[in-house]
Amino acid sequence: MMEQQDSTVDKAFAQEEWNRTCGNRANEKLVTKFMDASPDAINWVLDKADANGALTVLSGNHAIKSKTYPEAQCAHMVLSMIDGVMQPDINAVGNWMRADAEARGTEFIFSSPAVQLVQDGAKVVGAICETEEGYVRYSASKAVVLATGDIGGNLDMVEAYAPIAAPLVENGRNIYFPIGANTGDGLKMGLWVGAQLPNLPLPTMMHPQQYCQMSPGCFPAVNYEGERFFNEGIWMQGRTLNIMKQTDYSCYWILDSNWHDYYLESLEAGGGGVFWDGFEDKDAAMGQIQGYIDSKIAWQADTLEDLATAMDVDPATFRGTMDRYNGFCAAGEDADFRKPVEQLKPAKDGPFIGLKVGASLLTVPGSLKVNVDSQVLNKDGGVIEGLYAVGNVQGELFANDYPLYIVGCSHGRCMTFGYELGKYLKA
Ligand SMILES: Cc1cc2nc3c(=O)[nH]c(=O)nc-3n(C[C@H](O)[C@H](O)[C@H](O)COP(=O)(O)OP(=O)(O)OC[C@H]3O[C@@H](n4cnc5c(N)ncnc54)[C@H](O)[C@@H]3O)c2cc1C
Repeated sequence: MMEQQDSTVDKAFAQEEWNRTCGNRANEKLVTKFMDASPDAINWVLDKADANGALTVLSGNHAIKSKTYPEAQCAHMVLSMIDGVMQPDINAVGNWMRADAEARGTEFIFSSPAVQLVQDGAKVVGAICETEEGYVRYSASKAVVLATGDIGGNLDMVEAYAPIAAPLVENGRNIYFPIGANTGDGLKMGLWVGAQLPNLPLPTMMHPQQYCQMSPGCFPAVNYEGERFFNEGIWMQGRTLNIMKQTDYSCYWILDSNWHDYYLESLEAGGGGVFWDGFEDKDAAMGQIQGYIDSKIAWQADTLEDLATAMDVDPATFRGTMDRYNGFCAAGEDADFRKPVEQLKPAKDGPFIGLKVGASLLTVPGSLKVNVDSQVLNKDGGVIEGLYAVGNVQGELFANDYPLYIVGCSHGRCMTFGYELGKYLKA
């Protein structure tokens, strides 16, 4: 599909960006494997999409040409007709996979979580699962593959392995679903048979997705104390990390009556990225904002003081902050945080809108150390025979932070390493 649409990814640039975002702590062999193997894996999925009559599109938005944080155009989205509207349908992919696997004789057993791996010497040869009838031991014909997701639903493990995200988990800001499925079981089972963790802390996927899912970087943001605290015009993970440092891990995004014109200018000038672009349709955006107002996570007021009161922020402080910021916009220089002038858009003409935006944890996308064949490694760096890990229980593809540059890279890595492992184990 990328070839058909003349879309290419400069692998050297993408990989450099990936490694840099990951603080150069990712396993570069895994990164290379992901970049090289993902086209085959996505083509395998696209063939299934065609066979099932689904519509697939390539992501295409302002973020691709953004100067702030350009995204590679390589994310594929499957759309299905749901409730009379064509919309993204991640479930469809899982359903095709399952139907195909069952047609080939695979048996799926539900409601029986694995609790312990079984070993013959150092080799993993099976797993014990907890069922309603008691514990059942399964022997593996070839291998045991851990695909049990991340640790984000387990506060103790998050405190130990990804402490930056612990306050979010503690305060119910973990938006993984279904709740209670990502309790780090695979990591624990791996450690019990001698698996190795990468250098800590594990990476986190944290987005400004709590409350309003709208935070265009060209506008000012203030904390609950009514003060600006950073250059709002940075990439999404960076926005989240700064919001994380504020009271209630939240802030307010401030728009004025001309916001949409400024907004379009900001995109033309190279702004963009998740929760920044995507609001080009003004009527749709205003409908979204009205929904937030109805849900009491956004407020509208004729004056800055009234908006401050509605947001429960000190009006005098807020007024001072906004006057200072609007002054920077007029002068063409953000003396406080050096936001680039082309992204310095004011909020000076009422009525004003205040959007509450908070940090949330999606996943902790890293866990046990593996080699490029997804074999889990022991503490000496050797392989644990019979044991593999894919998805978020596989470590070191990400580190430090989540490289949004490749949109969909989390699903993409699950699919790519899963597909590659399937071929390897079938051989
Ligand atoms: C709100 C949200 C939005 C996201 N958006 C994107 C996006 O746009 N693009 C992207 O690439 N990624 C996105 N992600 C991240 C991505 O969804 C996850 O990283 C990815 O789904 C992880 O896949 P996984 O197979 O490793 O784990 P999971 O999808 O968590 O699956 C793990 C499975 O293992 C099961 N399990 C757990 N313990 C056991 C056990 N002991 N025995 C048996 N089974 C067990 C669980 O029930 C679950 O079914 C998003 C995540 C969230 C929360």
